[in-house]
Amino acid sequence: MLNRLMKILTSFSLLLAVVTSVVFLGEPKLHAKSVAADELSGTSGYSVMSLLKDNSQVVSANESAEMLGQLRIELPDGVSSDDVEINNNYMGRTISIAIDGIDQSYFYEYPLVGTAEHISDIFYDCIGGKGMIDISLDSVYEPKTVMDGKYLYLSFVDPHEVYDYVVVVDAGHGGKDNGASHGDAVEKDINLAIVNKMKEIFDKDTSGMNIGVYYTRLDDTKISLDNRVGLANDLDADLFLSVHINSTSSGRTSQINGTEVMYLVADETGASKQFASICLDNLLTTLGSNSKGLVAGDTIKIIRTSEVPVALAEIGFMTNTEELQKMLSEEYQQQAAEALYNAILQSLQDTVVMQGE
Ligand SMILES: [Zn+2]
Repeated sequence: MLNRLMKILTSFSLLLAVVTSVVFLGEPKLHAKSVAADELSGTSGYSVMSLLKDNSQVVSANESAEMLGQLRIELPDGVSSDDVEINNNYMGRTISIAIDGIDQSYFYEYPLVGTAEHISDIFYDCIGGKGMIDISLDSVYEPKTVMDGKYLYLSFVDPHEVYDYVVVVDAGHGGKDNGASHGDAVEKDINLAIVNKMKEIFDKDTSGMNIGVYYTRLDDTKISLDNRVGLANDLDADLFLSVHINSTSSGRTSQINGTEVMYLVADETGASKQFASICLDNLLTTLGSNSKGLVAGDTIKIIRTSEVPVALAEIGFMTNTEELQKMLSEEYQQQAAEALYNAILQSLQDTVVMQGE
């Protein structure tokens, strides 16, 4: 009798296990609050994906806000929107939310509500009294937030809906990859200095053109070629500009000097060549450098695999003593940054004209 009961119990729990896994497989967004909060002690962070309650209909019926594709985060008493900091780490396709004054079991007490559109995972951790929510996304989005009472609404918007133009600027090399070098000078540093100056100009852009600029790096980090071109392609950018410094193939000091810009010959629309040509003209005029012309760049990976209009500017030669001294100066770097900024504005305006024809 006992044996039989055991058998029944065993098959019942087996059945339960099957049912449970079917439910969880079919409904990955099912609210799983049943996990005891004390199971969290000793863990450092957890995925919130299984805690995400997919009850958008309930929420939109009760509230004025449109919940489709939104997440609702409830802020505990004493925590206001001033305690919330949102960062878009677009190179990693993640958006991070730091909230002061929430603890490890936060998401068990205040379940996340909404739909999981574009989200591949949500990871939560509590570090030094600060709750950190990392949201992994399937592409690059701009976070849009609305604060309503104690609720923070978050949605992920296509950058083309936020900006009239989207541009990717790439400082060549970085981290362990120095690029070319000559004496103490390394290419990656000059590329970065120029791009950081471009960012300063774009940050106070007065053109009124509403341009969203995305940078592959703004510090000394190594970034793969796939990630650089991947940013431009994922964003479906209007323009993709990569900034480099040239060197002779031997790397020895030489009389060879001047500016060249590479483009994609295989781009039958001619957009890459046109963009490269505008970059070259602006650089030559502003820097007064020698023209090395437009150069076919189809063998260069980031040019060949770019699905958007691409140009790779080689500002000058490190292997030329005089040109290297200029490129190491703040003034020349600033001029190069301004020339490339103007080239981007001009290219975007030309694109509008072309589309209007
Ligand atoms: Zn380079």
